[in-house]
Amino acid sequence: MVEYDFLVIGGGSAGYAAASYAAQQGLNVAVVEGARKVGGLCILRGCMPSKTLLATAASASAVRGAARFGVQSTFGGVDGAVMQARKRLLIDDFQSYREGQLSAGRFEFLRGKARFLDPYTLALDGPHGQQRLRAKTFLISTGSRISTPPITGLEETGYLDSDAMLESEHIPRSVTVLGGGAIALEAASFYAGVGSTVTLLQRSKRVLKELDPDVSEAVAEGLRRQGVRVETGVEIHKVETAHGGKVVRFVRNGAVTEVVSEEILCALGRVPATGALELESAGVALHGLRISVKATQQTSQPHIFAAGDVCGPLDVVHLAIQQGEVAARNACQIVRATALAPAEMDYRTKLFAVFSEPAVAAVGLSLAEAAAEGLPVLTATYPFNDHGKSMVEGHTDGFVKLMVHAETRRILGGSVVGPQAAEIIHEIVVAMFFNATAGDLARVPHYHPTLSEIWTYPAEELS
Ligand SMILES: Cc1cc2nc3c(=O)[nH]c(=O)nc-3n(C[C@H](O)[C@H](O)[C@H](O)COP(=O)(O)OP(=O)(O)OC[C@H]3O[C@@H](n4cnc5c(N)ncnc54)[C@H](O)[C@@H]3O)c2cc1C
Repeated sequence: MVEYDFLVIGGGSAGYAAASYAAQQGLNVAVVEGARKVGGLCILRGCMPSKTLLATAASASAVRGAARFGVQSTFGGVDGAVMQARKRLLIDDFQSYREGQLSAGRFEFLRGKARFLDPYTLALDGPHGQQRLRAKTFLISTGSRISTPPITGLEETGYLDSDAMLESEHIPRSVTVLGGGAIALEAASFYAGVGSTVTLLQRSKRVLKELDPDVSEAVAEGLRRQGVRVETGVEIHKVETAHGGKVVRFVRNGAVTEVVSEEILCALGRVPATGALELESAGVALHGLRISVKATQQTSQPHIFAAGDVCGPLDVVHLAIQQGEVAARNACQIVRATALAPAEMDYRTKLFAVFSEPAVAAVGLSLAEAAAEGLPVLTATYPFNDHGKSMVEGHTDGFVKLMVHAETRRILGGSVVGPQAAEIIHEIVVAMFFNATAGDLARVPHYHPTLSEIWTYPAEELS
């Protein structure tokens, strides 16, 4: 039986990054992938298909809003078949590129579902029967799966989850979106953009509840201005078919109320995909449903690493990749028995973005995280409705916010609600990466007129 140096379970964003790094360092690496279609969540059912559909929604919104720019046009609806054909073309291209990278021979690429037999042995149930694989070190990067909490009547009534939504050619007249996280908000923006009537029901008091309250409120307000009915602090009571549609009954402020729509989109969460791995045979500990990891990405078994959605803390691609690379570096050190200090994850510039309308992005600490760390902070904001470039482009919802340490004025975090949020947040990511202060940022030249120059206002205020 071959013994690999580094055996990666799951060929998604984290697994591919880790395997590439380890192979480049000269380790004997194998990746096992259990899905029929190779590519991982981001390419197949996550970032890329969702942003492709959001591009259709943005085009539809632009046509509907063209008259105020003096452009004559008539919105004739969205052709769902054309939208899906465009998406399939792009995703097939991304997917076959990734398949090519995985099969390029830099490491062994094995197909089949893996499970642990003991801390150093996997069983691989593949197309050619069962195989046993041994390795000195492992990476678990099996991602996450959709989890729908039990809601009375939901299964019987029928609903779409994000996988089904991303495949559907049908544009419903009306949709009720359950959830208030990133996937729910992007879905609500997609449906509103393509012309559906949208209601969003969120259990917590705020959408995107991990972000600062003013940021969440601005997103909810922006969605309302797009015509989305946003209801927060609701408890879903039951779902049924009535009044010619799908009815969601919910309780808000003690009163039972309801919304009727043609379709329900359920975006109430995902959970780590650990069920099939038989982690107890490997002695790998869980924290709740996630695999517990140290900053080195080591699990409770030092030679078994985890990276990506399977361990968190945030289900986003850039962290999955960074974690995979940290794990691979540390696996190299174990295999080579080097005495170097292990690599560790640095979440100082933790980044999060939602491609809703309005879009949102945040980097670094939230106000709540800064308070929990006992840091004295100052913040300054500037609105897009007073900024030249956003005004001429007609995108005046939202604001930018900068947070600094009150004494050193070092930048600790930033948020954007509004146009190109996920792009312009990168200015603050770069500033934070180089430990800049607000004064440093204020001195950086900015071209005029750009969206990016909006940062100079809070930076000057906090200098
Ligand atoms: C609708 C949607 C939109 C999103 N948009 C964004 C976005 O805009 N930006 C962003 O950063 N993130 C986004 N995400 C999240 C992002 O897609 C994930 O965080 C990321 O893809 C996770 O990568 P991963 O490597 O951890 O897991 P995955 O890419 O899911 O890879 C796990 C792999 O492991 C395989 N596997 C599982 N179990 C086994 C087993 N037992 N044996 C062998 N193989 C196995 C799976 O088949 C899969 O290929 C989005 C997610 C969704 C659902």
